[in-house]
Amino acid sequence: NPPPTLLHPEKWCKEFNHFISQCLIKDFEKRPSVTYLLDHPFIKGAHGKVSFLQKQLANILQDQRQLNPVKTRHERMHTRRPYHVEGVEKYCLEDDLVNLEVLDEDTIIHQLQKRYMDLLIYTYVGDILIALNPFQNLSIYSPQFSRLYHGVKRAANPPHIFASADAAYQCMVTFSKDQCIVISGESGSGKTESAHLIVQHLTFLGKADNQTLREKILQVNSLVEAFGNACTAINDNSSRFGKYLEMMFTPTGAVMGARISEYLLEKSRVIKQAVGEKNFHIFYYIYAGLYHQQKLSDFRLPEEKLSRYIADETGRVMHDITSKESYRRQFEAIQHCFRIIGFTEKEVHSVYRILAGILNIGNIEFAAISSQHQTDKSEIPNTEALKNAASVLCISPKELKEALTSHCVVTRGETIVRANTVDRATEVRDAMSKALYGRLFSWIVNRINTLLQPDKNICADDGMNVGILDIFGFENFWRNSFEQLCINIANEQIQYYFNQHVFAFEQMEYQNEGIDATVVEYEDNRPLLDMFLQKPLGLLALLDEESRFPQATDQTLVDKFEDNLRSKYFWRPKGVELCFGIQHYAGKVLYDASGVLEKNRDTLPVDVVVVLRTSENKLLQQLFSIPLTKTGNLAQTKARIAAASRSLPPHFSAGRAKVDTLEVIRHPGETTNMKRQTMASYFRYSLMDLLSKMVVGQPHFVRCIKPNDDREALMFSQERVLTQLRSTGILETVSIRQQGYSHRILFEEFVKRYYYLAFRAHQIPLANKESCIAILEKSRLDHWVLGKTKVFLKYYHIEQLNLLLRQV
Ligand code: ATP
Ligand code: MG
Repeated sequence: NPPPTLLHPEKWCKEFNHFISQCLIKDFEKRPSVTYLLDHPFIKGAHGKVSFLQKQLANILQDQRQLNPVKTRHERMHTRRPYHVEGVEKYCLEDDLVNLEVLDEDTIIHQLQKRYMDLLIYTYVGDILIALNPFQNLSIYSPQFSRLYHGVKRAANPPHIFASADAAYQCMVTFSKDQCIVISGESGSGKTESAHLIVQHLTFLGKADNQTLREKILQVNSLVEAFGNACTAINDNSSRFGKYLEMMFTPTGAVMGARISEYLLEKSRVIKQAVGEKNFHIFYYIYAGLYHQQKLSDFRLPEEKLSRYIADETGRVMHDITSKESYRRQFEAIQHCFRIIGFTEKEVHSVYRILAGILNIGNIEFAAISSQHQTDKSEIPNTEALKNAASVLCISPKELKEALTSHCVVTRGETIVRANTVDRATEVRDAMSKALYGRLFSWIVNRINTLLQPDKNICADDGMNVGILDIFGFENFWRNSFEQLCINIANEQIQYYFNQHVFAFEQMEYQNEGIDATVVEYEDNRPLLDMFLQKPLGLLALLDEESRFPQATDQTLVDKFEDNLRSKYFWRPKGVELCFGIQHYAGKVLYDASGVLEKNRDTLPVDVVVVLRTSENKLLQQLFSIPLTKTGNLAQTKARIAAASRSLPPHFSAGRAKVDTLEVIRHPGETTNMKRQTMASYFRYSLMDLLSKMVVGQPHFVRCIKPNDDREALMFSQERVLTQLRSTGILETVSIRQQGYSHRILFEEFVKRYYYLAFRAHQIPLANKESCIAILEKSRLDHWVLGKTKVFLKYYHIEQLNLLLRQV
């Protein structure tokens, strides 16, 4: 045995189990005594190192003492080893499920369970990584681990998220091609944590001389998540937006910049949260931070009564927020992030002012007043809140009041001022808060992108990138609304992308190249996506159409769905008027249509925009003066979409033509060519923008799995895990990866890259089949296949070839 001090803990853990099982099974004849075990160099060298393993050892030894040394062979074989999970003794641990001989659900689930209980949370399915949420901190992410996983053969170490990041990085450098890591899974399954770990490892790999840049990149996630994440019923740090982070590298693999794209921030959370849920983290952080610095009054934030937007009905929250040390620390951490990334003091101050403005706006109340002529006018009884809001936002309280309680209508060239009812005024107030927060968030993201863009002098054009997609997980609550619908459609799209890559493209290529490979059946969710995205009769198109009718109601909307969506995936439950159900890939979801039309219209009255533009706060003025494009440079977005159009899913064909005429991807509620941009159309473009980025890169998949709903460490619910494995097609993936060839390289490219392995430097081999065979044979690889134009390789072949190349 190697000295244990040379092994890293996870490997040591494996070796330990192996060693013990050997003692107990094979070496049993030698009747190992307690002294024998403790004296063994393997245990001795690790003494005091890993306490839980020592506890295991103690248990084993205790069992050992109780064993009768004269037991029959049969009895000995049936003595249960205490560190085994019941019923799984017959399986040995397998790092890659593809290597299992039996591929049924039982075997796979037991493998995962056994591994999970041994704290081996990662498992491969060929080139795909399954990550089970450990719900506890593991010491396997230190820089030593980054070094361990750097550029080595995958089989050299147990599966790890660093290995996946490493594979993407090595592919990028070797093939000079963009890479895309898609992380998917339910809410709370560990996507965001995985994304952080990937960024951590990629910054380690992309060693730039520029220490500052590395530090900046490492702060980006924390900053964006303070504004975009919130505590939900499922996850205390739930992402309420989709994030695609691209890390940019020079051709030699040094990190040179980063760029984030944000998708679909759940703005409605600013004004209202479900029971037991909270607003975006940043609101609590600034309250606690400013309270501690005694600066609440500078931002007109009341010390006694909290804003309606962050208070719960019990009133305890105020005390909770200001007394919470963790919020205060987070506030300081955020200030640090702002500073490191390069925001100026002035900018940060403006951001706080806008946040405080939103909280103050939330406190404005309305009451009905009747006058002789009008009975439904509204007034603001608590003028203090109005003054506070206007003061922090640097606008006139009078104009703010007018924008909230009245609106202008232009008829026949004449402008008439009409009063707002209490309900209308409340809607305008909340629309204003949502717009402020949404635009502030986009501005922060755009600003980060500017501050992290590559230095023009370091060949930005020749650069390559690794994109990391961390999007909100599939959601199914007791009440699901428009937000859940969008989130679930986005997940449906990601699943489609996964299916295309893992099943469809692969099988199509076997056919084209004349390769005999078994066809694996999988659940194609394309018909469902069509039901959502098709024009003119898809669900989103119908929603947009209905939103254009002022008389439409949520009821007419659901009727319209029922009349037009003739699909087995849609149904309308009896006796619940405003509900409709959808059979998603990940399960059935019941949606409540109340408020959906209004959410889709997402109107922001012109009167509000006009007032906000008059602000003396430069940032605020900017947020409402220029139309904010979603992803920065529109020309680039268009070019990318055009380049990627061949690989875009067919249901975007209608949308593609539209993009060419699209001026800017505007925020919802803004008018484009007299037509208002709705949430649904904004969502459609966002999704297309995201896909256009993803399809240009070579994909890598990380599937996160939530082992239980109680967020408990070492608790594995077979039922819950099985549902997730089934719905995401993991079981089918295992078989296609076992039979399939994940790398398919043109003869020409293959010879160009690997000819050193079989030919001398001065030889110029022909780029044909024969040269490929020569290289493959010389490299002593088995199980490869040649098609008509391509070499078909298993994922581990590439690793072996690259390793050989490095040795030449
Ligand atoms: P959502 O879709 O709601 O954003 P998510 O999939 O991004 O969910 P995370 O926020 O990444 O989920 O994970 C939820 C929690 O699980 C984390 O806050 C953390 O406590 C725990 N967790 C996840 N992965 C790990 C890990 N590798 N090590 C330790 N804890 C983890
Ligand atoms: Mg998340």
